[in-house]
Amino acid sequence: MTAQLIDGKAIAAKFKADIRDQVESMVARGLRRPGLAVIMVGDNPASAVYVRNKRKACAESGLVSVAHDLPYSTTQAELVQLIESLNRDPAIDGILVQLPLPQHIEQSLIIEKIDPAKDVDGFHPFNVGRLALRVPLIRPCTPYGVTKLIDHVGISPKGRHCVVIGASNIVGRPMALELLLMGGTVTVCHRFTGDLAPYVRDADILIVAVGRPGIIQGDWVKPGSLVIDVGMNRAPDGKLVGDVDFEGASRRAAWITPVPGGVGPMTVAMLMKNTLESALTRLGA
Ligand code: NAD
Repeated sequence: MTAQLIDGKAIAAKFKADIRDQVESMVARGLRRPGLAVIMVGDNPASAVYVRNKRKACAESGLVSVAHDLPYSTTQAELVQLIESLNRDPAIDGILVQLPLPQHIEQSLIIEKIDPAKDVDGFHPFNVGRLALRVPLIRPCTPYGVTKLIDHVGISPKGRHCVVIGASNIVGRPMALELLLMGGTVTVCHRFTGDLAPYVRDADILIVAVGRPGIIQGDWVKPGSLVIDVGMNRAPDGKLVGDVDFEGASRRAAWITPVPGGVGPMTVAMLMKNTLESALTRLGA
């Protein structure tokens, strides 16, 4: 079997085009464009690439992005002050703080300072709690994007074993919640699981978000399964690679996402979608 490739880039482009149409119709009705504040502290090169992609996506989707590039020496109090002023700013619908933050700033404290109605990353405990209680409002972008890829393939998690590898706050945990919401039977593996092979062998839907190239061997993959590789790792030759042995897994899975061009573009598209929806709610449109 050779897996069908899930073209996240093309699917994300459709979402962005649809968002753009909705924004232009807002503008035609005399409403302002949705505004996204993108905050970056320090000059982590990977963060700079992600932030650039997010700003580019805003331009493509007709959103206004407001850049706040702060020096590494920014204090926690200064960052809190900026977030509080953006919480009050009527032109801002979404506040994104690019992670990771420098060591001297407490990440969870910063996330909790963002107004949950402007938390377009979906990381605030309020939004994660809403998802856990099956009444989602703003959903974490990466898992939300993965649900759209699953919808695109057209297979339902109902009655299927969904295995999530990785249990972080931003990917693995909310991913498990999304899959539960979709009716899947969910297993979550993490650093203390030990041997991953038996879980992977039984996975009808496999979602991997660890950050270790090749952690999932191709010959573990269940024939006919759906494989979604969230991992993004820089190989020694500079290429971007996922967590799954792509060649091996492609021979067994029915569908697979590439890296790059799979989950990454969907994450950004869902950020645009969350910002648009936040604006529509704020404007009562
Ligand atoms: P993280 O470091 O916060 O979490 C990694 C998770 O992997 C942890 O839950 C840990 O328990 C688990 N883990 C570590 N070693 C393991 C092992 N041997 N077996 C099983 N589980 C193990 O990382 P994260 O922020 O969740 O990101 C994971 C990967 O996804 C990274 O490569 C990151 O770059 C990528 N990512 C991609 C996108 C995207 O849009 N494509 C978005 C976010 C993260």
